[in-house]
Amino acid sequence: MANKSFKMTGKGSVAVHGGNEPDPRYAHLTPIYASSTFYFDSAQQGADRFAGKDKTQIYSRWGNPTHTVAEQKIAALEAHGLTNEKGEPLALKALLHASGQAAMTTLFMSNLSAGDIVLTHYSLYGGTEELLTKVLKENGIQTIITDLRDSALAEAAIKENPGIRLVHIETPANPTLQCIDLEMITTLAKKYKLLISVDNTFATPYLQQPFKYNVDFVFHSTTKFLNGHGTAIGGVLIGRDLEFMANKAWKWYALLGGNANPFDAYLLTQGIKTLELRMDRHCANAMKVAQYLEQHPQVEKVNYTGLTSHPDHATAMKQMSHPGGMLSFELKGGIAAGKKFIDRLQLCVRAVSLGTVDTLVSHPASMSHMSIPKAIREKYGITDGLIRMSVGIENIEDILFDLRQALEE
Ligand SMILES: *Cc1c(COP(=O)(O)O)cnc(C)c1O
Repeated sequence: MANKSFKMTGKGSVAVHGGNEPDPRYAHLTPIYASSTFYFDSAQQGADRFAGKDKTQIYSRWGNPTHTVAEQKIAALEAHGLTNEKGEPLALKALLHASGQAAMTTLFMSNLSAGDIVLTHYSLYGGTEELLTKVLKENGIQTIITDLRDSALAEAAIKENPGIRLVHIETPANPTLQCIDLEMITTLAKKYKLLISVDNTFATPYLQQPFKYNVDFVFHSTTKFLNGHGTAIGGVLIGRDLEFMANKAWKWYALLGGNANPFDAYLLTQGIKTLELRMDRHCANAMKVAQYLEQHPQVEKVNYTGLTSHPDHATAMKQMSHPGGMLSFELKGGIAAGKKFIDRLQLCVRAVSLGTVDTLVSHPASMSHMSIPKAIREKYGITDGLIRMSVGIENIEDILFDLRQALEE
């Protein structure tokens, strides 16, 4: 058990040791506390726990020791090397949920009420877009979608709509890899006293730390790169306002009932430990795949922020330590060529989701984004022929061989 006062220099060490708690029975790994409730030695101890004087957990929907370790680890990664206004190490609080969607629900419901408006960017995860425009809309929360890469458009939307309370962005965004300048959008949000939340799923805290720019909340679908192995669905909401996180956000989390379970939290904690190693390899492989595809005669266009041809290359390089492991591309033959390519793959896996050790290939127009009308989809850059790739950690020669044979005429 690493000493809690040991100052770790890199995120690789934080991923391994950060957030870990000593175990009363000296278990090396955080045990799976598969227990719905936690007993009291006395009536007084129970009362003290309910009063918050004794921090021992009470009931697993409200928190569980296995969840705590995963939450603390993610918070430590997002805060690593950052300081607050007073120059002290940044303190963050995370709440682990059963899914990204559950964490997103806590984020929106605990911050918004009927009449409030969310301002967001047009390239978004399909589930976020639907949660906003279907579920929250029916509860009186409106959403305005614009191009938040353009500060003039963003400011105009804020001025025209005094009901805007929260700016929610995803950078890099799914599946076009568009990037929004975190410094620009946070400065703008703060100028108008708005809350700002960032979906950091594609980047992970290893590549990008939005709290550096003073955002209020960071969100992850932990299902993706944080877990890294595709073993569990999960989501986390992280906030810098500790009071809000411990009270209102926690209350909504507990009452909406989207808590994680200890087994999934355990899998997540183990997965995170190799984050740095995995990300380095995802990133190196993605760069090579992007370069290979860009020069391929069958490929119309590659969306990868590591390429200077991507419109948001400069933004990505400004705020990310590497462009990451995700890319998308269009084949010259449109949808028919796309289907043929996907069907011919022998190593890369045909599946949605992302961030697993194996390379996953999907077709957004017919899969993750099929519920979005074609005209809107195309406006977002999600054309019929777009193929999304989550580049895995296999040996690059094998990934390239598979792509080459699948692209052969
Ligand atoms: C997967 C994903 C989500 C939703 O998370 P779940 O774990 O599937 O509920 C949200 N945002 C992004 C960017 C995602 O990739």
